[in-house]
Amino acid sequence: MTVTRMRILATLCIYAVLGVSCNSGGGPAPGPNPPPPVQRPAFDAPRAFADLEAQCAFGSRAPGTDAHDRCEAFLLQELQQAGARVVTQDFTSATALSDQQYQFTNLMGIFSEDEAGEVLLLGAHWDSRAVADHDPDPNLRDRPILGANDGASGVAVLLEMMRGFADVAPPRPVIVAFFDAEDQGAPGSTLPNGGWIIGAQYLADNWPQELPWPDEMILVDLVGGDEEHNARVGTPPMSDDVFTLPVEGNSLTGAPDLVDRIWTTAERLGHDAFVRDAGRRITDDHVPFLNAGVEAIDIIEFVPPEWHTTDDTPEHCSPDALEQVGETLLEFTYGD
Ligand SMILES: [Zn+2]
Repeated sequence: MTVTRMRILATLCIYAVLGVSCNSGGGPAPGPNPPPPVQRPAFDAPRAFADLEAQCAFGSRAPGTDAHDRCEAFLLQELQQAGARVVTQDFTSATALSDQQYQFTNLMGIFSEDEAGEVLLLGAHWDSRAVADHDPDPNLRDRPILGANDGASGVAVLLEMMRGFADVAPPRPVIVAFFDAEDQGAPGSTLPNGGWIIGAQYLADNWPQELPWPDEMILVDLVGGDEEHNARVGTPPMSDDVFTLPVEGNSLTGAPDLVDRIWTTAERLGHDAFVRDAGRRITDDHVPFLNAGVEAIDIIEFVPPEWHTTDDTPEHCSPDALEQVGETLLEFTYGD
């Protein structure tokens, strides 16, 4: 509180003691000062990009790998450092790509749990795909992908937001969820959801009693694309030649109001990657929550040309993309 404001308050108190109004015009007396608005923390895009690189430095976070274990430990540490109350959820599953039973873990942290207001769930998947089955080179299609954009970008946005939560507690309860086993599906798989979104489905079906059920959910996936990625030689252009975030189809059908609020927030901030074109319907981690009655949306560029190729590397990602998404979500969390 500034000295000036303290003086004004002191003056108001004196008037209150004397029983007189400073409003000599005879109109209604001024009400109590409204609480100051909560300042949203800044989003540090280079620091977020370093989080993207840090995940990739572990290697591909495909199921059963050491990199998967190391990344899990990293995320756990980040949640604890940010001051979240951490809840983890272990489960085992086969995948559409392997009959092997893998150990998976969803990682959650809650902030501002004692605040009133609707509970916001922010999510991203932290595993990376075990095969580069869309690689233009057939010889590389059995390699795991690095998942710089597909996985690490969404996680990076949430990690940087969490640092903001540590600095300025959100004015409403916020749960950050890192979903495992999102990206191991396959066409024709007989597993539920084609073997995609195993972790998020498990979480929605087995919600931990230590956490409040969310009212709203925002998923971020493939949010790190750079401006020129579609112009590169060797990968067919599959979307616009700039990084854009059209409105994912299931989000538009299931949670049109939340879509509008997020896109309006982005437009107010001048983040022009958010476009109101109708995008495809995507089976992603928001779907189990939509099906369970949560207002849930997916912010996603689908599909960038490096999608499920060995080219999904930090060189094809940009801090600007992370900033557009992260700043929009911070503004929404603190100001909407
Ligand atoms: Zn993927």
